[in-house]
Amino acid sequence: MKFSWRAALLGLGVLFLSSDPNLSAQVPSPRVTAIRAGRLLDPEAGRLLPNQIIIVEGTRIREVGAGLAIPAGAEVIDLSNATVMPGLVEAHNHLALTYKPTPENNIYYYTYVQESTALRAIQAASNGIQMLASGFTIVRDMGNNGNYADTALRQAIEQGWIPGPTIINSGIIIGGMGGQFFPTPEMAKDHNIVYPEYLDADTPDEIVKAVRQNVLFGARVIKICVDCKPYGYTADEIRLVIKEAAKAGLKVEGHVQTLNGARQAIEAGIWSIAHSTALNDEMHKLMAQKGIWRAGTETPTGLAGHPVSEEAYKRTVTGLKNAYDNKVPLTFSTDADYWVEGKTRGELCLEFIKTWKDAGIPNADTLRAMTVNGYKVSETEKTRGPVKAGFFADIIAMPGNPLEDLDALKNVQFVMKDGQVFKRDGVMTPAAFFHAGPVNGWRIR
Ligand SMILES: [Zn+2]
Repeated sequence: MKFSWRAALLGLGVLFLSSDPNLSAQVPSPRVTAIRAGRLLDPEAGRLLPNQIIIVEGTRIREVGAGLAIPAGAEVIDLSNATVMPGLVEAHNHLALTYKPTPENNIYYYTYVQESTALRAIQAASNGIQMLASGFTIVRDMGNNGNYADTALRQAIEQGWIPGPTIINSGIIIGGMGGQFFPTPEMAKDHNIVYPEYLDADTPDEIVKAVRQNVLFGARVIKICVDCKPYGYTADEIRLVIKEAAKAGLKVEGHVQTLNGARQAIEAGIWSIAHSTALNDEMHKLMAQKGIWRAGTETPTGLAGHPVSEEAYKRTVTGLKNAYDNKVPLTFSTDADYWVEGKTRGELCLEFIKTWKDAGIPNADTLRAMTVNGYKVSETEKTRGPVKAGFFADIIAMPGNPLEDLDALKNVQFVMKDGQVFKRDGVMTPAAFFHAGPVNGWRIR
């Protein structure tokens, strides 16, 4: 048969013309869900509101209140026997790193040598799902992700391939030569082994370039090693990082392990400090004054295969209490980058509640650290978090009342992410999240 371009084009024209006027009628109206919340926990106010109705339209919350009319055709989710609350935030995790007792004796340098970025990206997808199942709807992923597995994870979730929390990712950790590794000269100089786990940046030029590289490859926050090596960063060098990151609208988190490092980071006005070992009363007072976030990563005792000495734990608990007493802005953070047998990544993170209880922090304030403060430190607080009209519908529910017993959080039975049910009656129902294409757009970078 002879092919006619003219006929083909005419045919296409007819197709476009005939479908055009009806296009708007073919767009499905967004689904509407009505949640009956027996008790709605408002972490900001630290109180429960009885018998609320939450109307969710598409990805967002449309209305919240008592006695709202349920729109015709809405799916009704009955959580009238549950405590309903906004999603939790983990402010320092490493989803694409999982070191293990076997075979690497929990030494992540060997994990890095053994496991490809591709394998670690798939682990990150799994860990993200595990976090979401435990009620964490936002995770700050602070580096150690091989060659940008963290960006790939964020994109996969945002484009609509897989379920997962909202990811605020750091890209590659920027530091002075060597990062947190202590490689042999031959591995470092002949095999360039530090990269891509760390991005060496020793001079002002290198610092600027390193920040730009992370921005280019999809970071949403910048992470630096302030003092992983004796040559660390000075306050001036940290200011340069902050200035360059700010051009892209990003904040800077510093890994800090020495008192001098803490002093330099605080003087420079860093956004958040990771780890608490170096933070004493004086540093806490300065952090409170400057409003610097504390991501203390307070590891509890009792994690199988990850022993913490009683002495170290006592220091952690005392430090957290001191930070609270000094009114340092606190976030809930774990530094989880390992595997505890029998626990999901989400369950592992919830074990860290123990430290907050042992520090005597009131439950309402621990809940604020896990929610309200988490939204702020991840800079999502204008769009995500509170169960209020206009915000994305990230909602969790559980029996019990976390204001009375924080361990109630270990029993999250319901999770909604972006208006879509991910877990119901304690069972993951993620089918609606899996797509064979980028349903939210391929331009998401
Ligand atoms: Zn970390």
